[in-house]
Amino acid sequence: MERFDLIIIGGGIVGLWSAYFAAKRGLKTVLVEEHGIAAGASGGLLGALMPHTPDRWNAKKQFQFEALTQLPSLVEELESRTGQQVGYRRVGRIAPLLKEHHIKDVTERTAGAQEFWQSATGNFAMKHMEAGLAENWPAAAAMPFGVAVDNLSARLAPRKLIMALAGALHGSIDMRFGTRAAFLGEQQVTLGDGSVLHGDKILVSAGLASFDMLRPYAPTIAGRGVKGQAAVLGTNLDPNLPIIYSDGVYLIVHDDGTTAIGSTSEKEFSAGRETDHLLDEVIEKARALSPLIKDAPVIERWAGVRPQAQGRDPLVGALPEKEWLYVATGGFKISFGIAHLMAQSVLGCICADATAPEIPEPFQPIHRLSA
Ligand SMILES: Cc1cc2nc3c(=O)[nH]c(=O)nc-3n(C[C@H](O)[C@H](O)[C@H](O)COP(=O)(O)OP(=O)(O)OC[C@H]3O[C@@H](n4cnc5c(N)ncnc54)[C@H](O)[C@@H]3O)c2cc1C
Repeated sequence: MERFDLIIIGGGIVGLWSAYFAAKRGLKTVLVEEHGIAAGASGGLLGALMPHTPDRWNAKKQFQFEALTQLPSLVEELESRTGQQVGYRRVGRIAPLLKEHHIKDVTERTAGAQEFWQSATGNFAMKHMEAGLAENWPAAAAMPFGVAVDNLSARLAPRKLIMALAGALHGSIDMRFGTRAAFLGEQQVTLGDGSVLHGDKILVSAGLASFDMLRPYAPTIAGRGVKGQAAVLGTNLDPNLPIIYSDGVYLIVHDDGTTAIGSTSEKEFSAGRETDHLLDEVIEKARALSPLIKDAPVIERWAGVRPQAQGRDPLVGALPEKEWLYVATGGFKISFGIAHLMAQSVLGCICADATAPEIPEPFQPIHRLSA
């Protein structure tokens, strides 16, 4: 039987960052991925890194803020190690205000940002403006009461980040693609071909599949999948343009000038990987937001299923009374902005390292069980 310090199940963004920090700690690690790299929700197109609003502050918002402010230095580290660019840029976000009373909400959030969006790596702000800084981004008709603008939001290219992480991991951990973790036993994972791996610790970061996998050990921990559909438009726009976010629709210009459009949010669905008319509706809404993309051709359509843990908070930490079993999943719509911090904090827990970032109490499985 092959023996490892750590077995990571799932090669999505959470599993890959976890492997990255496990390798840094010198753990003998194997990552087991059923399909190819980022075959699940992480293989998408958008890459928006948008903060929660700076009001009604809580542990989850603080965790995300710390993750968002830490990410640029990690991206720099990753890019210099691998020579691969991940398409990160802090472009900010513009959110059109559709009702007059939203102006008051933004005023409150401006004050909240002054209090909560302050860090050693930068002070960030949100404010109300009559219009965006670039013409037609968004269209005047789309912002009847102006816009809320922030300078904390950023974006990256999800697939480029995934490839850079895989590049950084090459040679430093054991990666098994096309290998299904079929059965999870005490400190053992049985693979699809019947072979067995022994791990002192096992981390389940298998996205949506995590909930079923953990059920025998924690029957009350639950989660579900929420399907999303997205597209890329063949534009040649300025990559410095901010993200537009309006009523659930995102427009994100990437480094190559293309515009990613998203996304649907479907709790009921049959084919999780197929796109349909619901994506066409999102694209039409996006086109109405800016004439700059009005006639741009659709060059890719994509669908995936986001893992959402019950209670909407990510699920991170040790399973109670199972000192060998850990979980990190359920980032739902914000995983790309927090996965690196989920990974660092769960690795801290695995290695009993009190200096590692803390896992907010609401994220921890023990809290979910008692809830
Ligand atoms: C349309 C859409 C748009 C999105 N936009 C954004 C965005 O702009 N910003 C953002 O931050 N987030 C966004 N998200 C959410 C984000 O993509 C997900 O939250 C994130 O990818 C989840 O990562 P994960 O690693 O937890 O899970 P996954 O990426 O699903 O990875 C789990 C992996 O585990 C593997 N696996 C499953 N079972 C097994 C098994 N038994 N054995 C071995 N391997 C197994 C799967 O094959 C998969 O590769 C979006 C999602 C969608 C669908």
